[in-house]
Amino acid sequence: MERYAIIGFGCAGYHGARALRANGFKGEIHVYTDTGMAPENPMLTTYVTAGRLPEAGGYPFGSLDEISRELHLSIHAQRVERVDPLARTVTAGGQASPYDKLLIATGAKAFVPPVEGSGSPNAYTMRTMRDARRLRERLEQGGVTSAVVVGASMVGIKVVELLWQRGIACTFSDLASHIFPLSALPSVSGEIERRLADKGVELAFGKGLAGLADRAEGGVSVRFSDGSSQDCDLAVLCIGTRPNLDFLAPDTLELGRGGIRVDETMAASLPGVYAAGDCAEHLNIQTGQPQAVGLWANASRQGEVAGASMAGRQDAYEGSLIHNITHFMDMDFISLGDKSLGGEHRVFAHRQDGLWLEALEKDGRLTCINILDCHEISGIVKGMLMKRLRGGAESDIFLLEKLRRSGVDEAFIKLLEGGQND
Ligand SMILES: Cc1cc2nc3c(=O)[nH]c(=O)nc-3n(C[C@H](O)[C@H](O)[C@H](O)COP(=O)(O)OP(=O)(O)OC[C@H]3O[C@@H](n4cnc5c(N)ncnc54)[C@H](O)[C@@H]3O)c2cc1C
Repeated sequence: MERYAIIGFGCAGYHGARALRANGFKGEIHVYTDTGMAPENPMLTTYVTAGRLPEAGGYPFGSLDEISRELHLSIHAQRVERVDPLARTVTAGGQASPYDKLLIATGAKAFVPPVEGSGSPNAYTMRTMRDARRLRERLEQGGVTSAVVVGASMVGIKVVELLWQRGIACTFSDLASHIFPLSALPSVSGEIERRLADKGVELAFGKGLAGLADRAEGGVSVRFSDGSSQDCDLAVLCIGTRPNLDFLAPDTLELGRGGIRVDETMAASLPGVYAAGDCAEHLNIQTGQPQAVGLWANASRQGEVAGASMAGRQDAYEGSLIHNITHFMDMDFISLGDKSLGGEHRVFAHRQDGLWLEALEKDGRLTCINILDCHEISGIVKGMLMKRLRGGAESDIFLLEKLRRSGVDEAFIKLLEGGQND
């Protein structure tokens, strides 16, 4: 009987296993998971920490027992220590086991920079349910009145929100000079920063994390690259992620900065090996370059394609668009496209009562779109942008009408449809 292995059982690993069975694979599926728990949803961690969602709600596909019975999986609640794609073996618990095909779906971990004191017991990260539990337990102990959140990222702002909602004095810091440096256009970041400051969040941008030092009286002192420091009860590091690939035998699979390079079937550079989710680099449809775009829907679709491909069916991943759709502290911020592609900064709407719409335009095309406060149009704009990038032609007139009714400018609509403006 054929023996397939899946390493990592998050969104991508789960969808890989489902797709294998759905596409008729009858052999053994060995799943290795270092959590020993059902697949979890990292997007929900901040809600679990905040107490807005019971921890059970963080496992969207049911219990590990139910899943393994339904999909006939052999679960190994073990961390994989080594994968040798040339010898076709997976090693866990010191024991090497052979595989015929392998799906690597190990996701990513929170990046902790190698600064002095980074292992402080007063330093937290936010990626896994374990992280969510750890911070929740600390907050529930009481006595937390101040915090520094390092990393002006989408994860960082969700952590700021949950601390702010508990009345904890919060400083939000980043080496970049503005919030959401990879996605927010200048006046949008300025407006978000103004609103955060109005709500009492202290902003400390333009200075990086230089170190952490635990204080004798409790709490921690956060040192910054400009020589300043701030004392607080705890620090949360939201500085980005790195793919979980430390088990991979060196010089075997082709890797990029963001993870394992895969083709549209999610196959890696050696036969029988596939990768999906936050540990894989796939096609960015806007740039045509491989890139890891770590989003839930991408991990789910990539897992599905990997499973189908491993089962010998034809399926292809359509490619990713960099985007963020996030709600925090009574605001919605939506960013679509790749800000680093540049272009002329265009402002299409600045309305205090509703829509903020700005974009970068290059050669008659929108490279990056920012929407503030009008989340109702985000799905339509994203759908139209994706359709155009995939070479689709006609726009849906009902959707166009909806955009117009929401006050979206004709010049923007024309650009979104791929036309030049006069
Ligand atoms: C706070 C937060 C908010 C987010 N918000 C959004 C959002 O709004 N929208 C969105 O689309 N995405 C969001 N994301 C990102 C999204 O959650 C991820 O893109 C998605 O979960 C990736 O799924 P994955 O299966 O690739 O990886 P993971 O969910 O990381 O799963 C990988 C699994 O592999 C396990 N593993 C790792 N190494 C090993 C090993 N050696 N052996 C065995 N097991 C191993 C890990 O423990 C983990 O269980 C957010 C993430 C966070 C943390």
